[in-house]
Amino acid sequence: MTQTPTDRELFWADAVAASLPRDTKHVIRDSKTPSGPVPISGLRGPVITDALYRTFREQGLDVRYVFTIDDFDPMDSQSMKQQAGMAEHMGKPFFKIPSPEPGKDFARYHAERFLSTFERVGIHPQEIHWLRDLYGSGKLDHEIELVLRNADEVRRIYAEVSNVQKDPTWLPVWVICENCGRIGTTHATDFDGTTVAYECRKDYVSWAEGCGHRGRIAPFKGNAKLPWNLQWCAMWDHFNVTYEEGGKDLLTAGGSRDRANELYRAIWKREPPAGLQHEFFNIGGKKMSTSKGVGASALELVDLYPGEIVRFLLLRTHPKRAVEFDPAGNTLPRLYDEYDRCADAYLEDPRSDFGKIWRLSQVVEDIAPIVFRVRFGTVADWLQIPSIEPHAEAAKRKKAPLTAAETLELDDRIALAKIWLERWAPEEARFAVASTLPPATAMLTDPQREFLVRAKAEVGLITDPEAMQERLYDIAKEVGLTTPEGKVSKAAFEAIYVTFIGKPSGPKAAWLLVTLKPDFVTARLDEAARAK
Ligand SMILES: [Zn+2]
Repeated sequence: MTQTPTDRELFWADAVAASLPRDTKHVIRDSKTPSGPVPISGLRGPVITDALYRTFREQGLDVRYVFTIDDFDPMDSQSMKQQAGMAEHMGKPFFKIPSPEPGKDFARYHAERFLSTFERVGIHPQEIHWLRDLYGSGKLDHEIELVLRNADEVRRIYAEVSNVQKDPTWLPVWVICENCGRIGTTHATDFDGTTVAYECRKDYVSWAEGCGHRGRIAPFKGNAKLPWNLQWCAMWDHFNVTYEEGGKDLLTAGGSRDRANELYRAIWKREPPAGLQHEFFNIGGKKMSTSKGVGASALELVDLYPGEIVRFLLLRTHPKRAVEFDPAGNTLPRLYDEYDRCADAYLEDPRSDFGKIWRLSQVVEDIAPIVFRVRFGTVADWLQIPSIEPHAEAAKRKKAPLTAAETLELDDRIALAKIWLERWAPEEARFAVASTLPPATAMLTDPQREFLVRAKAEVGLITDPEAMQERLYDIAKEVGLTTPEGKVSKAAFEAIYVTFIGKPSGPKAAWLLVTLKPDFVTARLDEAARAK
């Protein structure tokens, strides 16, 4: 049987789009709790959701993209508790906690910082809603009432699906204590159709201490919120969500997605949205914990990396596979090479999987890759050779002036390569042309010296790096710098590296000879050949 394109496994985003009904209005939702600085892993979900949103539209689905900021959640993070001034705010909703920046609350401060990364990486939800507004305006009141009227059913599902036994008077609503302002510490009972009784308990949760206050209040118009699973359902119902993916970690933090699905079917009598679960994304490596390890938070990484590379980093691996990312070592040159290969794949066939990954990695939609690019590793080498000006060198290589798009692309690579060389590049990738003759030249052997003398004769005559490299191979053979198998020995090129960089490895030796000023090169070769 011949294989038709439909036999092939679909690209993951296409497969999701193909699984959804076409004759309905779709809403894809994503959300964030503004609980502090967001690690880069926190962008995996939004980038996957955005890639799905783009794919759904492209496949002709009628889709709206809704993002909610869950700023009504209580502060429950133990790591925050350790920070100065935060202990007294444990258990309060994020939007009621003061922020590091005057004039903004904690939730707004962190949410705005996170949302600023969206702009940089090209994520554009059509609607952004804040839970403080949704609860405060009363828009979720009928959702809260529905939950309270079905409290028995909620308790039954908690017990059956997740084995959580609640006392029979417990109501699934979290009231904000009128005395201390905490929301995580209150136990609500006795819904009379308008109000609930509540008690702010000292030891209700491990992460915050209640004040002991008892009261009675209408749990509407921003006086209370729903517990996590039920709030999830309320969002699905309120926005008519048909698709919502989520991180494995997030999905377990507030209770399992299974429990929310079960509650939604039983109480709202609706079918929960479809949605894949993405795997963990860990930024790792020992170097991340050192002071050099800037780049761990989403904001820092997005400040350093071009938006396309951030998206590519998060999209190149299937959402179902975990990623360990360590920016140290040769990770970035490899990542960029892979990105370039995907651009080439796109140029060859935009419908190939790699082509699609390239396309979904673009900050600006619907643009084509530029054809002339300089490899990231080459840019890093150029930056370390004082006589090379990267734009001029690139134009020389292209044999034509760079276009505006090519210049921008090169500028991005130059900016990141500088940071890479400073923070993450392995020792062998770093070199600087020594301003005086390196002492290591005293160790050169006679054949190596002979090699340098003969190479010197070509300086200024051969200007093409490839041609110079060829010639260096020939000279090495002529002077006997060969292995027993007749191949050119490493000692030949080591002689050039030692002469210019002072260590036995470096970039392509020929580049040093053709890109540095000829007078300097001949003088240095001369000096090295005579050094003892
Ligand atoms: Zn209280």
